[in-house]
Amino acid sequence: MRPDGKEALLQTLEEKKAAALAFEARFAQDHFARLGVTREALYGLLQRYHQAFDTMGEVRLPAPSGGMAPPACSKGCAFCCRALIVVTAPEVFFLAEHLTRTRDEKSLVDLKRRVSDVDRVTRGEAGDARWRRGPPCPLLGESDNACSAYAGRPLACRGLLSSSVKGCMDAFAVRASDPRFAGARPFLFQNSEVFLRALAISLAAHGRPLYRLELNAALVAVWSTPDPLEKWLSGVDIFANARAPGASAPIA
Ligand code: SF4
Ligand code: SF4
Repeated sequence: MRPDGKEALLQTLEEKKAAALAFEARFAQDHFARLGVTREALYGLLQRYHQAFDTMGEVRLPAPSGGMAPPACSKGCAFCCRALIVVTAPEVFFLAEHLTRTRDEKSLVDLKRRVSDVDRVTRGEAGDARWRRGPPCPLLGESDNACSAYAGRPLACRGLLSSSVKGCMDAFAVRASDPRFAGARPFLFQNSEVFLRALAISLAAHGRPLYRLELNAALVAVWSTPDPLEKWLSGVDIFANARAPGASAPIA
């Protein structure tokens, strides 16, 4: 049967993602073969991914109307910052270093307390329950409703774009249906999966499987472990208790 317009569009996106994954996995494997698995190599690869998202300003996304439209995302629009955020170990280390570098001591202490408070009430809560009940991400600025860690934010946050604020409002604010399965899918565009999987494939080849972690639980693990990056690089799984709900197996 011939796919209709929406199915054809999703099929094209899936084919593009498969080609991008093959390319990025090869790139990451060469990268670690050359540099080894070090802090610099991990962050160098993350910065490549960050740049890819930074230059997406011209991209056009599937729109609710069925056509293509530019992203509707803007500073202060943060319905999406109520969802469970899945991260990987290298991203958490990068974000934690960014937070330490860009905040004074008091602000960092306050943030650690807020992250810990949110973690206490959400630990182990599955995505559906989480986005229905919240709370919002503790990194969301209280006065401007903007990400307070923008340059260090995870790939999942960078990759989530939408062509429709109303679509996001319906999906995330009204929380009437799960945006992953409702009609919102054609205009919510989550393409960070390509980079996460490329990173996972290349690190698995070096004996460091990557797991999907929940953002707040993972930050708490980093902040409560002495020399967390050094330990992780030496093979210690400091994130064993920070896995995202249902993510007991490594990313394949
Ligand atoms: S994904 Fe949706 S809620 Fe998030 S910034 Fe874009 S339009 Fe706003
Ligand atoms: S890290 Fe920033 S962009 Fe991501 S959910 Fe939190 S506030 Fe939003």
